[in-house]
Amino acid sequence: MHPISKAIRTQIDRTNEMEHSQPMFLTSSFCFDNAEEMRAAFADETDDNIYSRFSNPNVQEFVDRMCALEGTEAGFATASGMSAIFASFMTFLKQGDHLLSCRSIFGSTHTVITKYLPKYGISHSYVDAGDMAAWEEAIRPETRMIYVETPTNPALEIIDMETLSSLAKKHGLILVVDNCFATPVIQRPADFGADLVIHSATKWLDGQGRVLGGVVLGKKELIKDVYLFCRSTGPSLSPFNAWLLSKSLETLDVRMERHASNAFYLAQQLEGHARLSLVKYPQLPSHPQYAIAQKQMSNGGGIVCFELKGGIDAGRNFLNALRMLSLSANLGDTRSIASHPASTTHAKLTEAERAAVGISAGLIRISVGLERKEDILQDILQALEKVST
Ligand SMILES: *Cc1c(COP(=O)(O)O)cnc(C)c1O
Repeated sequence: MHPISKAIRTQIDRTNEMEHSQPMFLTSSFCFDNAEEMRAAFADETDDNIYSRFSNPNVQEFVDRMCALEGTEAGFATASGMSAIFASFMTFLKQGDHLLSCRSIFGSTHTVITKYLPKYGISHSYVDAGDMAAWEEAIRPETRMIYVETPTNPALEIIDMETLSSLAKKHGLILVVDNCFATPVIQRPADFGADLVIHSATKWLDGQGRVLGGVVLGKKELIKDVYLFCRSTGPSLSPFNAWLLSKSLETLDVRMERHASNAFYLAQQLEGHARLSLVKYPQLPSHPQYAIAQKQMSNGGGIVCFELKGGIDAGRNFLNALRMLSLSANLGDTRSIASHPASTTHAKLTEAERAAVGISAGLIRISVGLERKEDILQDILQALEKVST
């Protein structure tokens, strides 16, 4: 079966009720028929459920579906994308280790790397995503892990995963890819050699802006260690959230197809607009890493960025002029969302720090929803009319 069909048909075993849709297992613990079965479960001789901090049928179904989609052996689901990221750092890095990361990176991941990892004696270096020679130069004897997002949030830079994974293999490093922006229906990092694939399930995987969730996926032996760390420290995904997220995966492929075709249309229509200095989308030939995107992505995904002439004020005025698009920090919803990183998520950075991660004063990020493409475009065009240059 195709991975997408396999994911849709992967399901918790039917109960005696013969339900078609999966039931929800809202239970914190599980029972045993006798002392021997209980002993065996605790001794890891069986894989019976013990306690929902360790495992739960709904959570396992979500993980199994993600494994089918990403082409990985195993996974562990967490309460949010950030707990998935933090768990993979804590599982594989120790005092004295060094982490290499792309410079343009999700804000909270940046906070974990620069504020919390140093408390455990873990150092880091940032590398500019597009500069492949710089990655090898930045590797030190104590480097242990390479961590990247591709496309990056919010600058939409694309990193060549195949090249990076051969570098990681040559130096014995763990390559971790945050696949949040693309989702497995657009790119599968494990096919290009990534050791761990991470998701914030909160975004496109849920796709409807309802719940938080995260997942770490990869080879069995690596995930075993993530599981042991998480089962003791407790960032487990709620079975309710897992039930919602698992159901959402059945529509991921059709949703992403429409998000991406809407986004591509928007990018093409907006490119060259008099009030914009730049339109960025992985499928536009003008994108600096267009060739890499063509190689590793099946389409450009659901995020479009553009730069308003007129900087910070133009950004604020643009948001205020929108009628339909939501102003929200989230992305990956059925409804289109606009955000202005320079005045919100990245407001604490200096202009130079923002420039280094590809965020100009007038950068607008659009998470393209499932409304009709003409309606999304019209709202943006009428708002652009009201922004003075
Ligand atoms: C949102 C996001 C995260 C964090 O996920 P949460 O579910 O909000 O904890 C991590 N990486 C990227 C690229 C994101 O967009």
